Amino acid sequence: MKEPHKSGQLFKEAQRYLPGGVDSPVRAFKAVGGTPRFIVKGKGSRIYDADGNGYVDYVGSWGPLILGHARREITSSLKQAVMRGTSFGAATELETRLARIICAAMPSLQMLRFVSSGTEATMTAIRLARAFTGRDRIVKFAGCYHGHSDGLLVSAGSGMATLGIPDSPGILRQVAQNTLVAPYNDVESVQHIFDKYPAQIAAVIIEPVAANMGVVHPARGFLSNLRKLTKKYGVLLIFDEVITGFRVSYGGAQQLYGINPDLTCLGKIIGGGLPVGAYGGRREIMQMVAPCGKVYQAGTLSGNPLAMTAGIETLNILSNPQIYRQLEERTAALQDGIAEEACKARLPLNISRAASLLTVFFTEAEVTDYESACKSDSALFARFFRGLLNNGVYWPPSQFEAAFVSLAHSPQDIQSTIRAMGRAFKSL
Ligand SMILES: *Cc1c(COP(=O)(O)O)cnc(C)c1O
Repeated sequence: MKEPHKSGQLFKEAQRYLPGGVDSPVRAFKAVGGTPRFIVKGKGSRIYDADGNGYVDYVGSWGPLILGHARREITSSLKQAVMRGTSFGAATELETRLARIICAAMPSLQMLRFVSSGTEATMTAIRLARAFTGRDRIVKFAGCYHGHSDGLLVSAGSGMATLGIPDSPGILRQVAQNTLVAPYNDVESVQHIFDKYPAQIAAVIIEPVAANMGVVHPARGFLSNLRKLTKKYGVLLIFDEVITGFRVSYGGAQQLYGINPDLTCLGKIIGGGLPVGAYGGRREIMQMVAPCGKVYQAGTLSGNPLAMTAGIETLNILSNPQIYRQLEERTAALQDGIAEEACKARLPLNISRAASLLTVFFTEAEVTDYESACKSDSALFARFFRGLLNNGVYWPPSQFEAAFVSLAHSPQDIQSTIRAMGRAFKSL
């Protein structure tokens, strides 16, 4: 492994023009220390930095790259699409095609609207829920991240947890006050909120499998009880499946747990590595969106033909169920291998996995919510991260993130990662 001289120089220069040298905070390695690597290319399971080092990549652009980097089917259809023009600001058939594929995979979506990021999707789903119910307040769960719009940047997990900012300055108190926060996996708290604010709650938004405080499973019955409770009180249930959609299964967490949310937010995988988001749900709700209805939401690059093309290709490949079996096997092998190495090194760890999402929590305690996730030893995680990086593994640079395994991770990649884990554990 070469010293990251070039990355260091590029980072220094970047800091002159970009706050912190990056366009999204966690890329700056603040939580783990060291020089953030500047990436020049990716292929399959690997990324390569400016100093010529290759790494087995477990960030996968934070979720979209479930097929790995620069997969041939995607790049070749993108090449053809680029030649036809990159944006029209007018309707294309590609949008209907991708929408049809998504609605077939997730029957709770009768209609959807494409936007350009997950943040836009969740922000608009909340607006729509307020318009539909005529109510103001929303409920979210501590440690769940739903993008960075004002009303949702409250107890929002990873980035915030890592930076130690409980809340961001610049957000009006009056806005944040309308967001009520419950502990994850605690349906009684939600009941209390409903009782305390009768007929004032428009929606409950949740990551049905939490992945932005590290991977945290919904406890048995939690999601179905939440569904029953919201229905009883006339509150819309919004599943934020920006990570879990087409990840924990082809039909997302809603398929896995058999729950029909009123609205669903998507992003990441459905854009195949290009900027995208979408929100959708029941027809009567979606028909309130302009120009069909009065809830306004627009976007210059919404439904962009390149993003639609990459999304269609990606979901076509993912429609083969064999793929999810393979992802499950590979990630389970990784989980078992890490557990074995941790045991050898006598390190008490808690490895949490949902399909091809995985977090190594540096705590013995069971992690069921944000509070228990925060018991992890972040300083120890930081050393573990640097150990992995030095051994050619690019792990997410924060204790409170999920690692993403892709279809491009071969059994050999998994084995070499497990060996790197062993070395990293020993150096702690
Ligand atoms: C990434 C993410 C978002 C935000 O998506 P962006 O495209 O980064 O704006 C929202 N919700 C969840 C669950 C996410 O993981």
